[in-house]
Amino acid sequence: MATHKRDYYEILSVTRTASGEEIKKSYRKLALQYHPDRNPGDKKAEDSFKEAAEAYAVLSDPEKRAQYDQFGHSLGGRGFEGFEGFAENFSGFGDIFGDLFEDFFGGSSARGRGGVRPRRGADLQVTLEITLEDVLAGYETKIELSRRETCGECKGSRAEPGSKKTSCTDCGGRGEVRVSQGFFTLRRTCPRCRGEGERIEKPCHRCKGEGLVREKRSLKIKIPPGIDEASRLRLTGEGESGESGGPRGDLYVNVDIKSHSIFERRGNEIYCEMLIPFTLAVLGGEIPIPTLDGKESLKIPAGTPAGKVFQIKGKGLPALERPSVRGDELIRVDIEIPAKLSETERKLLQEFAKTRGEKVQTKKKGLFEQFKESL
Ligand SMILES: [Zn+2]
Ligand SMILES: [Zn+2]
Repeated sequence: MATHKRDYYEILSVTRTASGEEIKKSYRKLALQYHPDRNPGDKKAEDSFKEAAEAYAVLSDPEKRAQYDQFGHSLGGRGFEGFEGFAENFSGFGDIFGDLFEDFFGGSSARGRGGVRPRRGADLQVTLEITLEDVLAGYETKIELSRRETCGECKGSRAEPGSKKTSCTDCGGRGEVRVSQGFFTLRRTCPRCRGEGERIEKPCHRCKGEGLVREKRSLKIKIPPGIDEASRLRLTGEGESGESGGPRGDLYVNVDIKSHSIFERRGNEIYCEMLIPFTLAVLGGEIPIPTLDGKESLKIPAGTPAGKVFQIKGKGLPALERPSVRGDELIRVDIEIPAKLSETERKLLQEFAKTRGEKVQTKKKGLFEQFKESL
């Protein structure tokens, strides 16, 4: 039969009497730990992530939790993802399993008699592009979303209010039909009512019998400071409405970070390069520097070599887990050598070289001119 499934409470490391808040907290911890974005290519982490999500989907819903407490994994009834998959896979094996379930659970088939199966709403996703400044301060925005919501006219029943629903005559309201095939009797989803067990005489005019209608919703999205590159936030229940009492889908927010005109992000540090005049490198002084908080000044000590990296404490980005602690800004300085000198500048530098006893080319003519003259 089914492969052994771990107990949902065990998966979430909570006691059977844990409060909703405790369950949520524990799930959040696991989800962060095993999130596929944090463990790329790690199949084990992915499985743990899914396992935790499934456990949470059940234990966070009081009704499902009560069912689970009573029946365990074997009878989630409708709406249990794991169990639904199981029933689907095994329905093809015919009455052997079906009858087993029926006997065991006192005459109700796993699928439920004549019931419309609840279906979870679709997940949606949006992508937001934010700046490094937004990573620093956190970001809040309102988005417009077009998503399918339960039809207000028929309340999702798909039938025109006041009209009748009748039991499907082909399957007798069971939602499935039995087909004999050699020694087996197979169960198939009823093609006439598509497994729903009932027929709608007059479909709802507003949703055309879909039970859902597309509606515009505006949603506030908050991105916490310190968010990582290519993060994905999940807004539980902000996807599309479920069908026939199924839970809502989720909304995933993908966060992209625009490249910055000055800084490069390196984890919680930001990095940039600056050119300083060679005289400043030699003599020392102060220069204005860019930071995410605006202009500041940096002391360049006399005799600064090219390639020196200055570390400006606390001017980087906050950590997602500890928004009050910021990383550093790193500035690498390179030295600008003037390509052209005026006559006065040249003389001054020559004088400078002479006092240090350094040999320099003192003729005005370059080597190429000298070479040409020697021909
Ligand atoms: Zn409707
Ligand atoms: Zn039918």
